[in-house]
Amino acid sequence: MAEKLTAVKGMNDILPPDSARWEWLEDKVRALMARYAYRNIRTPIVEPTALFVRGLGEVTDIVEKEMYSFEDRLNGEALTLRPENTAGVVRAVAEHSMLYDGGKRLYYMGPMFRHERPQRGRYRQFHQIGAEALGFPGAEVDAELILLADALWKELGLKDVRLELNSLGQPDERRPHRGALISYFETNADQLDEEAKRRLHSNPLRILDTKNPKMQALVEAAPRLIDFLGEASLAHFSSVKAILEANGIAYSINPRLVRGMDYYNLTVFEFITDSLGSQGTICGGGRYDYLIEQIGGKAAPAVGWALGVERVLELIREQGGAADLPVPDAYAIVPEASALPLVLKTLQALRALGVSVQMHAASGAAADGMGSMKSQFKKADASGARFALIFGEAELAQGSVAVKPLRGEKVEAAQAQTLQPLETVALWAHSLRAGV
Ligand code: ATP
Ligand code: MG
Repeated sequence: MAEKLTAVKGMNDILPPDSARWEWLEDKVRALMARYAYRNIRTPIVEPTALFVRGLGEVTDIVEKEMYSFEDRLNGEALTLRPENTAGVVRAVAEHSMLYDGGKRLYYMGPMFRHERPQRGRYRQFHQIGAEALGFPGAEVDAELILLADALWKELGLKDVRLELNSLGQPDERRPHRGALISYFETNADQLDEEAKRRLHSNPLRILDTKNPKMQALVEAAPRLIDFLGEASLAHFSSVKAILEANGIAYSINPRLVRGMDYYNLTVFEFITDSLGSQGTICGGGRYDYLIEQIGGKAAPAVGWALGVERVLELIREQGGAADLPVPDAYAIVPEASALPLVLKTLQALRALGVSVQMHAASGAAADGMGSMKSQFKKADASGARFALIFGEAELAQGSVAVKPLRGEKVEAAQAQTLQPLETVALWAHSLRAGV
């Protein structure tokens, strides 16, 4: 036998029945986004490497060590599998001049790629759902996005998710803070790990984002950016907080919250749970008013967030909530292969009427036929279907189909009877759809 091929490490197959939970989540997201008037955007999974280097910042975890980058074999172009999608959305918005007639509210869902050490809640291909509002400078849109995320947690039945907030101010407020941060870390150079030492002069703010537990105390006592903010930045922050308070959204201020990319300014936030161990951030975002011009577009303010789908689904599982798994309405039992043309014709009609039917299919060699009635009923039962439709010889002889409830439920006399295809089956289908 040939050597067995397996999926790439850290990249998961999403299989039924679990995939139904993904669809359930995606349906909830689509419905909610529509209620907030956010529209779907779909951008390529592969982008020019320069988009992320310029957008996310050279001295970030993602750009330094997590990107899947490669050269196009045919023309040598430097390409990267997207590690996140804000940069791609911004590129698309600029490329298509989407802001010419005002701000845009957008959302996306899809796979992202980061070369990280795989563990619970951390994969190399993972999925994000993101919401981005571009062209809006006001704090009300920062707040709207946070309210949207909060509404999604409620919609999904999530509990124990807390919100942390911070403000990163503006570049001219970050400069003096940067100076203070460098001299603080220089004074405590003996406590810095290798990565922090390397970043001390290139990107000291990133040190605050360290995951090294040995550095937490040091980082905890570092100069706080929030103490360097001017009036306008503080006013923006206050407006966000006032809207959250008016909406009963609890939050805590985390002065060390800086987020993993360089593009943020003013409001940044994370939704965190304690139920998932160290991978507890399920959603993060903030304002990025300078990103569009940084990648060559016309300057415009923007704010957004992205959630990790695997972590959100894991949290739902952890908290005991789950979507109902899909089952067919009916399972078609087919004793004789000779009935198949009529069976498939009847099932087509039923499905067109909205009934979901799983057809029994031969599993052995052609000579074995369709399998015994017993084995077919076993499969019907395992399918979870409410009814078996029996296309038996006797029924077919009189042009009808037998309906047998499989879940011990009481059915109307009319339903339990043998049905005449197709008119009676159609009636049955309608009553089934109506929940009779
Ligand atoms: P972390 O600090 O956990 O590495 P991050 O700051 O790198 O997260 P973002 O880039 O802000 O994460 O992405 C938003 C969300 O996407 C995260 O809050 C998380 O839920 C999810 N996420 C990020 N990286 C991964 C990954 N490798 N596997 C699974 N989910 C991820
Ligand atoms: Mg990360």
